[in-house]
Amino acid sequence: MPTPKLILWDIDHTLIETGGVGSEVFRDAVRQVTGHHIDRLPDATGRTEQVILRETLELYGIEDPGDYFPKFVEAQAAGYRARADEMRRRGRALPGAREALAALAELPHITQTVLTGNPKPSAIAKLETFDLAQWLDLDVGAYGTDDSVRPNLVPIAQARATGRTGYTYTRDTTYVVGDTTSDVEAALKGGAQIIAVASGRTPADELRAAGAVTVLEHLADTSALVQSLTGKHSS
Ligand SMILES: [Mg+2]
Repeated sequence: MPTPKLILWDIDHTLIETGGVGSEVFRDAVRQVTGHHIDRLPDATGRTEQVILRETLELYGIEDPGDYFPKFVEAQAAGYRARADEMRRRGRALPGAREALAALAELPHITQTVLTGNPKPSAIAKLETFDLAQWLDLDVGAYGTDDSVRPNLVPIAQARATGRTGYTYTRDTTYVVGDTTSDVEAALKGGAQIIAVASGRTPADELRAAGAVTVLEHLADTSALVQSLTGKHSS
């Protein structure tokens, strides 16, 4: 049997785009929880939700009594659920995402899940909205609700996957697939390989400069992706 492998997918700009619904849901959730209307948002690229919320509160001088993050998580997920139809209209699953997940799900030695800065309930809501959850083992994923430091999410997912399959996942057998330099950093510092996809706002040369050896322009070339995950490590 081939070596068991663990694939950790980033969500935003790797598998899906919310088409702006994500920022609106974020603002609504902050308003519901804090009573403050916000219009400016800190840069969310590659960051975990707890950090984005904390910086938003700082930006507006809003004091957190201590329970804002769990309340925010609930409000945000409810917002995504309520606006699923709208998100399907305005957003999209990125080209090749569905095919890539389906192709990898066929391979018995591969476990695939997510590694995301999103809180778990919002991550699941987004993936279900675009019909992508069916190919992922979401119970073994690592989320913005597990840790606010992205590289720390890699060992969390590895331990959960080991609990599921009994296999040990090392740097050589764990792959983060993501679109930002934070995904690259999470993989390299956290203990995984990185397959970078230049489908977000970060150009391929920036992803390479951050340390990604394998950089795909998009997921539409399913065989290139499957090759980089199942073949030998190569550039
Ligand atoms: Mg992303």
